[in-house]
Amino acid sequence: MNNLRILVTGGAGFVGSHLCDRLIADGHEVLCADNFFTGRKKNVEHLFGHPRFELLRHDITFPLFVEVDQIYNLACPASPIHYQHDPVQTTKTSVHGAINMLGLAKRIHAKILQASTSEVYGDPEIHPQTESYWGRVNTIGLRACYDEGKRCAETLFFDYHRQHKLDIKVIRIFNTYGTRMHPCDGRVVSNFIVQALQNKDITLYGDGSQTRSFQYVDDLIEGMVRMMASEVGFTGPVNMGNPNEFTIKQLAERILQLIPESGSKVIYEPLPMDDPKQRQPDITLAREKLGWSPTIKLDDGLVKTIEYFRKIL
Ligand code: NAD
Ligand code: UDP
Ligand code: UDP
Repeated sequence: MNNLRILVTGGAGFVGSHLCDRLIADGHEVLCADNFFTGRKKNVEHLFGHPRFELLRHDITFPLFVEVDQIYNLACPASPIHYQHDPVQTTKTSVHGAINMLGLAKRIHAKILQASTSEVYGDPEIHPQTESYWGRVNTIGLRACYDEGKRCAETLFFDYHRQHKLDIKVIRIFNTYGTRMHPCDGRVVSNFIVQALQNKDITLYGDGSQTRSFQYVDDLIEGMVRMMASEVGFTGPVNMGNPNEFTIKQLAERILQLIPESGSKVIYEPLPMDDPKQRQPDITLAREKLGWSPTIKLDDGLVKTIEYFRKIL
């Protein structure tokens, strides 16, 4: 199915810019809408002048009237330091943003995909996390603006699906890293790489025994495109992540091994409030329904990301 008109909200961000590249390469017309809160024109500037690419400065908490065939709704800051900087705006982006994008999808009969998150599971009691797990989220903590906003967005997606018969696709993305992350993004992979390259202290929060499972961005993009193309009626939610689980301390050690010239040393800082202790996706559903599983190993993804940061710093 070539030459669809596709709206990507948050398209100038880390994940969104890679998605725009992929959709353009697949022959589609891409409308990228972004308010540049954490995203940058630079991430998509190589697409400027492309006849099938258009960039629109727009905040999705306000209505948007355009005509497209598909919508990928990615707009939302994803790094804890950024989403906690203006928590009210974060919730508005997830909730008002979802209402506006769903209202748009309803009017123009577009298929719509929501970039949800493993954060809907909160600090999980079951491990690895399956889609059937309802999660354990503190409604009044510092992470709630993001977690509860994303949970409410999922609710809205499923209610528009039931009430208005919208064709929805919901994916729950687990920790993703790669090129085009902002050097000041604040998430762990970019922080550690930037610190190591600049010979600054590696800031390990807590004792570093908390775990995450890291997915390289190219694997995620493949999964997103497959989900959008999946059979009619398959709504998800479906987990998208790499099941290879590491402690944050192991991640720090691995990055230091891959940057042998670094003079950085690890220092310990307090663990932020409500920081999940463990996280690993169960991706059985994605394997079965989409024939998808990640292919890029942590070391290979880290090497690419380190090369990127070497160039831009
Ligand atoms: P990012 O911060 O790089 O990108 C988010 C983009 O959304 C930015 O370009 C930002 O400017 C834009 N944005 C924010 N608020 C907006 C608004 N109100 N209107 C329009 N644009 C707005 O983060 P990312 O890692 O690329 O994340 C993309 C999406 O994927 C987010 O929805 C995030 O919640 C989800 N996600 C990402 C991860 C991950 O590990 N990268 C994990 C789970 C979920
Ligand atoms: N909306 C939009 N673009 C459209 C259609 C709707 O941004 O093309 C917004 C509109 O502002 C509305 C929201 O989507 O507030 C929800 O629309 P819906 O039709 O579901 O509800 P209603 O308009 O009845 O509030
Ligand atoms: N973390 C860390 N040092 C940093 C940034 C993050 O030790 O400089 C830890 C953080 O406490 C968490 C993990 O790394 O346990 C992943 O953090 P990130 O902000 O990347 O994502 P999230 O917590 O949303 O999964």
